[in-house]
Amino acid sequence: MQDVLIIGTGMAATALANTLADKARVTLIEKSRGFGGRMATRRREGFEFDHGAQFFTARSQAFQQFLTRPVEGACIAEWQPRLTTLEAGRAPYKREWFEPHFVAAPSMNSLCKESLKALEGNITIHLGCEVGPLEKIDSGDAPFRWRVFPKQTDDQREILGEFDWVLSTAPSAQTSTLFANTNFSHLTRLHDAKHLPCFSLMLGLNAPPKLNFDLATVKESSIALIVANASKPRRGATHSLLVHSDNRWALENFDADRAEIEQQLIDASCSLLELDAASIVHSDLHGWRYAKTEVPADEDFLLDEESQLAACGDWCLGGRIEDAFLSGQRLGLSLVKLLNS
Ligand SMILES: Cc1cc2nc3c(=O)[nH]c(=O)nc-3n(C[C@H](O)[C@H](O)[C@H](O)COP(=O)(O)OP(=O)(O)OC[C@H]3O[C@@H](n4cnc5c(N)ncnc54)[C@H](O)[C@@H]3O)c2cc1C
Repeated sequence: MQDVLIIGTGMAATALANTLADKARVTLIEKSRGFGGRMATRRREGFEFDHGAQFFTARSQAFQQFLTRPVEGACIAEWQPRLTTLEAGRAPYKREWFEPHFVAAPSMNSLCKESLKALEGNITIHLGCEVGPLEKIDSGDAPFRWRVFPKQTDDQREILGEFDWVLSTAPSAQTSTLFANTNFSHLTRLHDAKHLPCFSLMLGLNAPPKLNFDLATVKESSIALIVANASKPRRGATHSLLVHSDNRWALENFDADRAEIEQQLIDASCSLLELDAASIVHSDLHGWRYAKTEVPADEDFLLDEESQLAACGDWCLGGRIEDAFLSGQRLGLSLVKLLNS
């Protein structure tokens, strides 16, 4: 069996691992301490926030099939929030969704976490370890392998492992850094795909907010979206509000002082929701540098058979959870054919 490294534990990595688990010796390495990538959940001071993706749709048969497989400890639930649109100078107006929207329960990260944990025994997972440089080991008398080093280490001899294949599910810009010193033939395609940033403001309140919506889309503002986290199925009854900034606003302000960004978003939220600032008992900010795909690669995945490197993720096909799944699964299926040939 060949040794395959998957970088990441988000949806693309989960789809890849599911496809490859019994076809190769699979190792996943994730730089964060938790699973899920941008399907993220944060718990602080008794409050809980899905501070990355809020929901997903499932339009393809492949994704629908994946979601119907039982996974211990996680389930998929349809979410039917009260929807509204907020716009300065206009009365709020209601919206409707015309297809089912889903969330993972009990938290957004539980789908990847429990799906990957179910494969343990077949796969190896290392969390909290950032992959750094790759070095090609080619002695000439055996097939070459990739020696993989951690990003930050003072010890030049510390290696994470040697692999026949390295598959990155990191956003395109991060994959381009990882593969920079390799002979990966699709480096320019990695540069072509572009992301926009986003800030997530997490507010914990001392009482239920008086809202006549569960999810508000906001127009012409530094804020793009507001979600009452507890309105999702199987969440705790905490008074947690999740606020996503506008992507363009985040781009203009990404390197500004984070305390100032947090205060600006708190002020904008209080003004939009007529919220008393004194009711905010917890506040936290997360900046996503690669939140939303602005320009996709328009490929299912990028695979270079000669260098035995490949990249996949939402940015290949679009910018949504289902795109990440399809990209990961399609790369996995192609690799299975190569491993069997
Ligand atoms: C604020 C926000 C809101 C969103 N809202 C929605 C929504 O409502 N609906 C929707 O469908 N989509 C939404 N999305 C997009 C959705 O989250 C993504 O499409 C999807 O989660 C991407 O999955 P992925 O596996 O391709 O990438 P990721 O989830 O980013 O996974 C890549 C993983 O690689 C890891 N990694 C990167 N570099 C390294 C390294 N060097 N070493 C080790 N690990 C590394 C990362 O830590 C990460 O876990 C949103 C995203 C954000 C940020």
